[in-house]
Amino acid sequence: MKLFLFTLIICCSCLPVTAQRNCATNEYWQTQLNSDPALRLRYNQMENAAKLHPLISKKEQGAGVAEMPVITIPVVIHILYNTPEQNISDAQVQSQLHILNKDFRKRNDDTAFIPLAFTSFATDCAIQFELAKTDPEGRATTGIVRKRTDRLSWQQDDKMKFSASGGNDAWDSRYYLNIWVCNLTKSLLGYATFPGASPEKDGVVIRTDVFGISGSNNTAYNKGRTTTHEVGHWLNLKHLWGDTDCGDDSVDDTPPQKTYNSGCPSFPQITANSCNPLSSGDMFMNFMDFSDDACLHMFTPGQKQRMHDLFTVSAPRESLLHSAALNKPRNAGASPEPQTDTSPRLSIFPNPATDIIAIEFNSQKPLTRNVYVIYNITGRSLAEGQYTGGIISVKGLTAGTYFIKVRHGEQTLTAKFIKH
Ligand SMILES: [Zn+2]
Repeated sequence: MKLFLFTLIICCSCLPVTAQRNCATNEYWQTQLNSDPALRLRYNQMENAAKLHPLISKKEQGAGVAEMPVITIPVVIHILYNTPEQNISDAQVQSQLHILNKDFRKRNDDTAFIPLAFTSFATDCAIQFELAKTDPEGRATTGIVRKRTDRLSWQQDDKMKFSASGGNDAWDSRYYLNIWVCNLTKSLLGYATFPGASPEKDGVVIRTDVFGISGSNNTAYNKGRTTTHEVGHWLNLKHLWGDTDCGDDSVDDTPPQKTYNSGCPSFPQITANSCNPLSSGDMFMNFMDFSDDACLHMFTPGQKQRMHDLFTVSAPRESLLHSAALNKPRNAGASPEPQTDTSPRLSIFPNPATDIIAIEFNSQKPLTRNVYVIYNITGRSLAEGQYTGGIISVKGLTAGTYFIKVRHGEQTLTAKFIKH
């Protein structure tokens, strides 16, 4: 993989200014996974659960996804500006929401340009986006937060997500899609977290000049598709080539692809020595490829399924379905809506487990050292100790069903897990 990336960088540096979408999501996410073992466990468990879905034919899958109800995602836009031009207008923000709603509902005008071989795969993803009406404190909001910053440019290091580093703190990411719009360094268009990220970092970052429809911006990224692509990542979609030579994007109905496409390829786009055996070639017009904005037009039923899986019971994005962000503000006379469920809950990842488990309280990692006890189903205590950072070894247990009891502040919480 590293060798592949290195080769890629060398190759690209030889080319004369070739337009290439630069999405930092994969590089960013690999760094996050490497620095947080509990995040890796959580993410792998979610991926493995998705693989357990029964294999169904594309026809059945198409019929199934057509019945999915439309999901509305509340959005907050954090605009971080240093110059007046970076403080983009409300209309510019609205233009981006408009694009998202067109693209995820298959209402984009340019579906007409999808080659015939792929038209039957283009799908209405039944996901839409709306600016928040209520902030986390229940006050009225436009869903747009503007903040002047002294910082001239930003990297993929999450500093824009924290007020303490010149950015702006996330709104509760269980109930809002946070999008930070800021002057990312010129080599980046944007990056996103996949589901499972720490709550204070969860969201999408987009470079100011490619956010929304930018009439004066004549680059290849002036039609708002960077945000469509990054929100696709936030909804667990991978790049079509799986970020490696002929990698897997965990979606069955996108053709295998050797690597990314760029610019505006002509149909059919056949790559030499590719793993794609189809005469129709690459699905370069899929939003999860690297083609120019003007040449991205569609998601597939498999991608739709993968996104909707996130909203099933206890799945990582289910909480958005219970958001009060689109309700009337509580201080405008509406009856108060519970914004959060504050009763502590204990979760175990992975479950079933093999060598280690990670514990988590309402999507927050435990920060302090505390005691735990593991019981078998007859109530006999088998192991106890102190956990730090939420990781506990269960290597010594034989296969079976267990209960773990954990002290969390003043309370004791219990959860069941299975050891393989
Ligand atoms: Zn990407």
